[in-house]
Amino acid sequence: MLLVKKKENYVFQFEALNHFQGLTHAIACRNGGFSLPPFDGMNLSLGVGDDPATVTANRKRLRQMTGGGVHLYTRQNHGASMRIITRDAWARGEAIQTEPVPADALITDVPGIRLVIQTADCQAVMLFDPQKRVVANIHCGWRGSVANIIGNVVSCMTSEFDCDPGQMTAAICPSLGPCCAEFLNYKNEIHRSLWPFRVGAHHFDFWRISRHQLVSAGLSDGNVHASGICTRCNPHLFFSYRAAPETGRFATLIGLDVGS
Ligand SMILES: [Zn+2]
Repeated sequence: MLLVKKKENYVFQFEALNHFQGLTHAIACRNGGFSLPPFDGMNLSLGVGDDPATVTANRKRLRQMTGGGVHLYTRQNHGASMRIITRDAWARGEAIQTEPVPADALITDVPGIRLVIQTADCQAVMLFDPQKRVVANIHCGWRGSVANIIGNVVSCMTSEFDCDPGQMTAAICPSLGPCCAEFLNYKNEIHRSLWPFRVGAHHFDFWRISRHQLVSAGLSDGNVHASGICTRCNPHLFFSYRAAPETGRFATLIGLDVGS
C-alpha cells in the first residue's frame, strides 16, 4: 500500500492497481475534511447523522482530490444487490439518479464514472478486468461474506461483460482484521461453511474469506491484494464502527479514466 498526499488529504493506493494505465482508485483516510466530532473529519456518508451540507463539502473535496469524474454513491444495506451501469444505459441518461439506488456493489465499463463505497470496518473490494476494461466496487460486511456477494459480482462481470476472472485484479481495502473481528454469537450469525476461517475462539479472518471467495470465483491468488490494515486498530486513519459506533464513513473509489 502506498500513502499518497492529495491536496490537503492523504489517500492509500494499491501498487498493483497503479500499474494499469487509465485506472483511478483511492482509499480516502479520515484526515482533512470538514466534519466535526464524532464524524471528524472526512466523513462521506449522508446516513450517519452528520450535517448534510458538511458531507456534501467533503464529497466535493474527494472529487477534487481524485481528479473529478462522476462519483456514484449507493444506499448500502448489507445485502447482495448489484447495480450495473452499462455504456448504453449511461448514454441514454438512464443511469443518472438523484437519489442513490440501494445496492452493495457497483459495476461499470463507462469511463469517467467513479464507483464509491463507504465503510467503517466493512470491506470495500475493488475489481478490475484490464482486458474488458470493467471495474467493480463491493461493500462487503460479514453479511456480504455470508451471502458471497464477491462471488456474485465476479459472476455478473463474466455474464454481463464477458470478463475473464483469470484476468481480474482484486484489492481488499482496510477493514476489520482478524485481530478485531470478534463474533461472540458466530454460531447463529456466521454460516458453518465459514467456520474454518475462525481464528482463536471467536474471531474470524474476513480477509482470508474474501481471498478464498475471489479465488473460488476464478481469480488467480497472485492477483488478489489485501491491504492488511485493520480499521479498528487504526482509528486515527479510518472510521471504525467497532471503535466508536457513532462515527463517519470513509470512501474507497475506483473508475476508468476518460479516453482510456
Ligand atoms: Zn485490529
